Amino acid sequence: MAKEQLNPLVQPDTEGFFGKHGGKIDHPDLVAALAEIEAGFRSIVGDSEFIAEMKRLQATYVGRPSPIYHARTLSKRGAQIYLKREDLNHTGAHKINHCLGEVLLAKKLGKKKVVAETGAGQHGVALATAAALLGLECEIHMGVVDIAKEHPNVSRMKILGAKIVPVSEGAGTLKEAVDSAFRAYIGNWEQSMFAIGSVVGPAPYPEMVSYFQSIIGSEAKEQFQQQYGCLPDEVVACVGGGSNALGLFNAFLDDDGVRKVGVEPAGEGLDKPGRHAATMTLGKFGKIQGFNCYYLQEEDGTPAAVHSIASGLDYPGVGPQHCHLKDLQKVDYETATDEECLAAFLTLSREEGIIPALESSHAVAYALRRAAELPADKHILVNLSGRGDKDVDYVLSKIEL
Ligand SMILES: *Cc1c(COP(=O)(O)O)cnc(C)c1O
Repeated sequence: MAKEQLNPLVQPDTEGFFGKHGGKIDHPDLVAALAEIEAGFRSIVGDSEFIAEMKRLQATYVGRPSPIYHARTLSKRGAQIYLKREDLNHTGAHKINHCLGEVLLAKKLGKKKVVAETGAGQHGVALATAAALLGLECEIHMGVVDIAKEHPNVSRMKILGAKIVPVSEGAGTLKEAVDSAFRAYIGNWEQSMFAIGSVVGPAPYPEMVSYFQSIIGSEAKEQFQQQYGCLPDEVVACVGGGSNALGLFNAFLDDDGVRKVGVEPAGEGLDKPGRHAATMTLGKFGKIQGFNCYYLQEEDGTPAAVHSIASGLDYPGVGPQHCHLKDLQKVDYETATDEECLAAFLTLSREEGIIPALESSHAVAYALRRAAELPADKHILVNLSGRGDKDVDYVLSKIEL
């Protein structure tokens, strides 16, 4: 099976920086806690027993490797479109890749519990799943507004045995949930581990999560070469925090002939502040929730309101490795609007019989646009990060069929 390895371009320096982005926690109560996680992470990377256990669960529990599928009907527009089917993983998305790694690490560190925030509930469900599998307690902090909105995922977490902590401060959404989860973690870090949901946050999270997600790209590169005898011309993924995109891009960072494209949500339009979440395109450099990155900000530097039709993409910041890759011009960042995303959601459902997550539909939307610009002998590989069952009621409330 393909081997995970992080390209040096997305490995941090000793202070946790990728160029000027990233960094270590400066909260005095968390320095020791995150140092312990970092040391634990360094030890498992070289631990053949740990890796063997992770590989066993990836194959027999998650269902890896996920296939690459040639979408022939979609491809009638021009270039050939292929899908890396992360939607076929157990729990229906790529998030199980890093949740499995994080919970295995928590167990190795002797922790009883994993603690995390969740917005739409996707990270919470994946973490609750891995915790159930490995016999750890799971505590998920979630804003009261999100709890009301994302009822099916709340039910799934409860059934899986997770404890939900409702957060009613402020707007009652993701940002307050993060603060609440961190507070709970500070009070009990010796017994628990904070398990973050993307390649964001202070060191070691961006490096650790991208390491666990790099299985996507290492599998995809090997599969593509085996199935089609070449590398794709372009690899495309949606970018929220950036974990599924980095997981795919990592394997191709030294292949200059392979264009890497991250697709951000343009929401209702890039000209409407507060109604998009195009962080890489319009964000400014600064510090948000313990790390440096480009983020959408108000005049005074506070994080701006953001919007995307895909709740997994509406975060004002983005992972530090992506910011660094943008500075190095190694990855291009493009956008897709809510409207294009909905159209792509329906197109993939009706032309190929695959209902994609609204998050993933942003990558599909860009690929459809791009395929029409390229000749039929070019190959575009799209990371289909998740399935869209969670989104069907919402989509039907937006469009009449
Ligand atoms: C959470 C989520 C995303 C966004 O997260 P990244 O860290 O940017 O990958 C994308 N797709 C799906 C299906 C998700 O659940």
